[in-house]
Amino acid sequence: MKIPFLDLKAQYFSIKKEIDQAIQNVIADTAFVKGKYVTEFEQNFANQFDVKHCIGVGNGTDAISLALKALGLKIGDEVITAANSFVATSEAITNVGGKVVFVDCDPETYTIDVNQIEANITEKTKGIIPVHLYGNPANMDIIMGLAEKYQLFVVEDNAQGHLSEFRGQKTGTFGHIATYSFYPGKNLGAYGDAGAVVTNDDLLAKKVRMYANHGRTAKYDHEFEGMNSRMDGIQGAVLNVKLKYLEKWTNQRIWVAQKYKDYLKDVDQLVLPKESLQSRHVYHLYVVRTQKRDALAKFLEERGVQTGIHYPIALPNLSAYKYLGYSPMAFPIADSYQDLLLSLPVYPEMTEEMIQYVADNIKEFFL
Ligand SMILES: *Cc1c(COP(=O)(O)O)cnc(C)c1O
Repeated sequence: MKIPFLDLKAQYFSIKKEIDQAIQNVIADTAFVKGKYVTEFEQNFANQFDVKHCIGVGNGTDAISLALKALGLKIGDEVITAANSFVATSEAITNVGGKVVFVDCDPETYTIDVNQIEANITEKTKGIIPVHLYGNPANMDIIMGLAEKYQLFVVEDNAQGHLSEFRGQKTGTFGHIATYSFYPGKNLGAYGDAGAVVTNDDLLAKKVRMYANHGRTAKYDHEFEGMNSRMDGIQGAVLNVKLKYLEKWTNQRIWVAQKYKDYLKDVDQLVLPKESLQSRHVYHLYVVRTQKRDALAKFLEERGVQTGIHYPIALPNLSAYKYLGYSPMAFPIADSYQDLLLSLPVYPEMTEEMIQYVADNIKEFFL
């Protein structure tokens, strides 16, 4: 059997009629950049995600930069974020002139180790960007407590956590701003690049909207210089269709994860994902940990099962961050886990037969 890591084609064919019609409408209305389909999506997204404002932007990386811009980040300001994430999180800090400060990840949940944040707060620290990594919420109680104590802003990078919840509350509603990516492979994926910034703060929302659209107030009146990061009409229309299915797809991902757990719970050399306290993990990725990671990945590949590694090089170990001068021992968890983590296929279209095939092969490997 062949099990791809992701199957976006299967998803498209399940909703083809609606998607094709939505795209046709955008072209017929020439609503190519922003426009009514984007506005409609922004409103639907805000409703479904329990926030007041949603601003559709070009991608999830810009979304973080725009959030930081709106929050007034200045050159040299420090922003704390997780050592285990996709590079976009830290890159966005640098792009607006900030200084990246990494904190190691929690050995069980893989999200930022909230017990190490406080020791990294200095006079220059302006904010924290937790990542709800793999769809597992970071501990927002502790993060918001620290933010209040030290007067810091919090931007939740929720590129992997659509509809995840911490203590019954949706992630992306705890911090001052949250950002989303709709890169095609994300839990809510567009048909190209797209992202969003959400907030309950009217002023921040207004600033983000202006920064994303050349700092403009009217067509050719610009209050300040911004950038061009607007959502395309086609992406808005596609996302609008997919949004209706997101809750169902999310439950299917959770079901797949539960099945993996049932099948794999007795494999002692494999550490299964641990959900954060009282949370809804939405399984953007199903990440397991084993000392035999590379051999297992190879074995599965030979059996037709595609896997991934998120991420093979911890952020502080990237060449891009050599200039920060960290010692290799500074992030022991992120540093050692980069060789242990393996992402198994997880998507709504997976059948029990597919899950069982993956699990059987894993069991055979460890026998
Ligand atoms: C995908 C991702 C981003 C960036 O999103 P793009 O839309 O690809 O720019 C940022 N942070 C995390 C954690 C991501 O997974």
